[in-house]
Amino acid sequence: MKSASIPLSAPHLCGNAERYLRQCVDENQVSSVGPFVQRFERLFAEHVGSRHAVACSSGTAAIHVALRLAGVGPGDEVLVSSFTFVASANPIRYLHAQPVFVDSHLATWNLAPDLVCAELERRARAGLRQPAAVEVVHVLGHPADVEPVAGACARFGVALIEDAAEALGARYTAGRFAGRHVGTIGRAGCFSFNGNKILTTGGGGMVVTDDQRLADRARHLTTQAKCPGLEYEHDEVGYNYRLTNLAAALGLAQLECLPDFVARKREIARRYDAALSVWPGVTLPPRAAWADPSLWLYSVLVDAGRFGADSRMVCLRLGELGIDTRPLWRPLHRQPIYAGCPRLAGEVAEGLHAQGLSLPCSVGLTDEQQDRVIAAFAACGGGR
Ligand SMILES: *Cc1c(COP(=O)(O)O)cnc(C)c1O
Repeated sequence: MKSASIPLSAPHLCGNAERYLRQCVDENQVSSVGPFVQRFERLFAEHVGSRHAVACSSGTAAIHVALRLAGVGPGDEVLVSSFTFVASANPIRYLHAQPVFVDSHLATWNLAPDLVCAELERRARAGLRQPAAVEVVHVLGHPADVEPVAGACARFGVALIEDAAEALGARYTAGRFAGRHVGTIGRAGCFSFNGNKILTTGGGGMVVTDDQRLADRARHLTTQAKCPGLEYEHDEVGYNYRLTNLAAALGLAQLECLPDFVARKREIARRYDAALSVWPGVTLPPRAAWADPSLWLYSVLVDAGRFGADSRMVCLRLGELGIDTRPLWRPLHRQPIYAGCPRLAGEVAEGLHAQGLSLPCSVGLTDEQQDRVIAAFAACGGGR
């Protein structure tokens, strides 16, 4: 397979990366011993404005742990967005619980808050069992409209968990949560440092929470639930989910660069917006008035009738030119593994899937490369 000459979202290694990694090697501290995990956790918590941060081996692991913190267990239900990456839902299944897929809201592409609120109210009125948790996902770097969901969860005693894997750097700018970073609203928030995310540790994740007891429990669960002391005593079934010192060293260096990364993502988005908004049938990424998105993965919707090519044709043509793109996700309720799961509506997510694609937006993308992407995209359209 020939590798794309313009990648979709490649890591950008800079700042102290080499120095910190060398320190791990020089001091023979590449695994669980060493200072970087704690330093990374502390700076991360400070950056997002949460009291505690617990590093994990992946974003998926972070979600798994967060669901455990919310008390999700066999037979429980969890409301989650249908329009998301599969890793949002898989940990629900790891716990033998049942996902209930919620359709998207066009204003953010994230889960529709009115559907969640109506469902919790309906269950309360009918005396039905409430879900064990609502898992809000902030897709593609845009904050979900969490305020009504947080209100309903509080009213009905349902745990709120946030999958902010794609949204490090995104904040609320208005309303009850003005100034707050995504991932810090719910009982626990989860982030990913996979290679394609805005910040990478090679592979890793983070759980954040303001609750000391939950942070302690997260740390316990990620380290095989071993009790303190000399003997091997384990008081519950835990996981080997801890992040290595080596990975955390890279994470710390990346986190120091994060403000520059976010600024660069926003600049890339601004250039795409200006160039693509002139095309009929092209919908730019959502930008709610109350949100400051991180624009992690710049994505547009293409109306084939008006633009002159559909989203998949655009992907194929750009691919032929060595430009890496990705269709937006097939809604999880349409994945064979999740077929038959209960769901709340679903037509908006289907539309995002049919019309959506992501364009190259690595932090290291040059203006010249971006102009090539824009020209190739424009050449697909027959509308002008
Ligand atoms: C990347 C991602 C995850 C999983 O993170 P990993 O670090 O790859 O395990 C979970 N949810 C969403 C929405 C993601 O994009």
